[in-house]
Amino acid sequence: MQVYRSCQELREYIGAAAARGHQRALVPTMGSLHRGHISLVRTAQSRQAEVAVSIFVNPSQFNQREDFEKYPRELERDLALLQEAGVSAVFAPSESELYGPAFQSWIEPGSLSERFEGASRKGHFRGVCTVVAMLLNLARPHYAVFGEKDFQQLRIVEQLTQDLKLGVEILRSPLVRDEDGVALSSRNARLSPRGREAARALSRGLRIARDAFIGGERSALKLRSYVIEMLQTEPLIATDYVAVVREGDLQELPTVAGNCRILAAVTVDSVRLIDNVALTEKPAL
Ligand code: AMP
Repeated sequence: MQVYRSCQELREYIGAAAARGHQRALVPTMGSLHRGHISLVRTAQSRQAEVAVSIFVNPSQFNQREDFEKYPRELERDLALLQEAGVSAVFAPSESELYGPAFQSWIEPGSLSERFEGASRKGHFRGVCTVVAMLLNLARPHYAVFGEKDFQQLRIVEQLTQDLKLGVEILRSPLVRDEDGVALSSRNARLSPRGREAARALSRGLRIARDAFIGGERSALKLRSYVIEMLQTEPLIATDYVAVVREGDLQELPTVAGNCRILAAVTVDSVRLIDNVALTEKPAL
């Protein structure tokens, strides 16, 4: 496994990998890796692709400097995990390597980005889209893998690659949970033991709503209220949003029909946690 710090080194690797004729996949991450990230690598490997992982805590997608600074960074540990997972290359650039002092070109996403994470974190998806476009342009992969954990981000990236004709296939990778049901996230490390306990109410509420859906409930109001009631049992939880949306355009619906999801975001211990569940007959929790 090679570790590249500069765009130039990465381009040389891509040139050589292209000459070998393999399919290539990119897995963009912000590091501090866990089983959720490794499952993205496995999704890429299931397509017989040579996998490159980028590790970059992207400053432009944080709207609070403090959140950016507090974001966990554990490069040595990450590299050991990726080596073990059979990754071919890691791209871990510095901030100045991607954003030079004269940097001024941004990608502005549209309506998919307006609500939910986009409303709570102004400029977040502009930062995500810009860095993803940069990484895809540098790595020129056949596939790029994104987790369903960040479902709004996944839809925005799918739209971005389609709109800009980037010629990359986006692979969706299922959300991975811890044994207690909490969605794996690098941010979970910042929860106190009591906060961690409280965080369980989020996945529990989503599971109750999903089970009600499987039992035949189609009212978005009802499904949403099951999640909210569960969140209200935990005084440490501040709810940002719970919404029943259509997967395609992320519009809220009164009645579930077609592919829908419940998206939710809460704050526990001043740590922002997001989660979601698909409203399909096949259980995913
Ligand atoms: P991050 O490092 O948090 O920016 O995440 C990098 C990628 O890993 C994104 O595509 C996330 O959606 C995905 N990811 C993070 N956590 C999980 C999880 N628990 N299950 C599945 N994918 C995840």
